[in-house]
Amino acid sequence: MPLSDVLGHERVKAALRHALDRGRLPSALLFSGPEGVGKRTLAIEVGRALICEQSSNDACGQCSSCLRIARASDTLADLRAQAQASDEPSAFNLRLHPDLLLVEPSTETIRVEQARAIVSEVGERSFEGRGRAIVIDDAHRLTEQAANALLKSLEEPPAGTHFLLVTASTEALPATIRSRCQRLRFAALPPATIESALVERWGVSPEEARLRTRLSGGSLKTAIAFDSTAYRNLREELIGLIERWGELDELGRLDAAQTLADLDEPRDALRILRSLLRDVALLSEGAAEEHALNIDVRERLSPLAAGAFGKRAAELAEQVERSARALAANAHRGLVMDMLVDGVVAVSGLRGDDWA
Ligand SMILES: [Zn+2]
Repeated sequence: MPLSDVLGHERVKAALRHALDRGRLPSALLFSGPEGVGKRTLAIEVGRALICEQSSNDACGQCSSCLRIARASDTLADLRAQAQASDEPSAFNLRLHPDLLLVEPSTETIRVEQARAIVSEVGERSFEGRGRAIVIDDAHRLTEQAANALLKSLEEPPAGTHFLLVTASTEALPATIRSRCQRLRFAALPPATIESALVERWGVSPEEARLRTRLSGGSLKTAIAFDSTAYRNLREELIGLIERWGELDELGRLDAAQTLADLDEPRDALRILRSLLRDVALLSEGAAEEHALNIDVRERLSPLAAGAFGKRAAELAEQVERSARALAANAHRGLVMDMLVDGVVAVSGLRGDDWA
């Protein structure tokens, strides 16, 4: 897939093509922006363009190098499994082509052994084709030692060698690394771009594509991986809980907290719960329905929005947000859910008939 086939990011792609055209691609680039929008895909494509045997400003897609990289990209899962089976951290410097490395965290981090392998590759091995690319994914996971080991290579790589660092957490990247890279900022993908790609490239039905897009937060990766049946079932359970919440007695509250704590994906549950509460708050304020994320279940949410519950929904959404943060900080799941359910009842100050 040439650069133009990577979804969205037109300005970034134009700048890259321009630089490739003139043979002026910086030797160290940092692709920064939200998760799942195509940064790594584009970095690999730039690497392909550098190595392509036919064209100098984009991947031709047909020469043996282009084909080889495309095949390797399609079998990334296998390459990772091989790396996992090895004891060497440097096995996670995945080789997509003799002149193209994709470096990924070996466990949690990109380790100094991996950095050293890059340094010796860059310093001692000459490359086969026109250029060489080292793509470092999740570059913010470089350990301090690994980052330090890389500094010199980043600063003065041999001619034709290009580093492409990819991160969704630029702030977590050591300043010494950041300052040596030219930064390209990626934005979230526009909803229309994600929606049409889901339909045209992944064969998703238009209705399903709309739902996935609304919930993807601009990440194509999230939209593709989204399991809408599991999502709908979980959401159904949560709507039922909201509808009953006002009527819960002591035992009912314990039961509700237990139900939440037992869910396979409590963080997802809280995210969905928050989006439902935000929608109820929006509808309660008289916002147009199309602004609601869960527009497909509006007939369930509207009655909740019309009552006293609607006026407290925004506050309740914040309560859920606090619980989500506590969960993310590894607080005890059961305790978090107990406190959430009690908190919701306390915030609402409502009982029974007042609820809906
Ligand atoms: Zn080619």
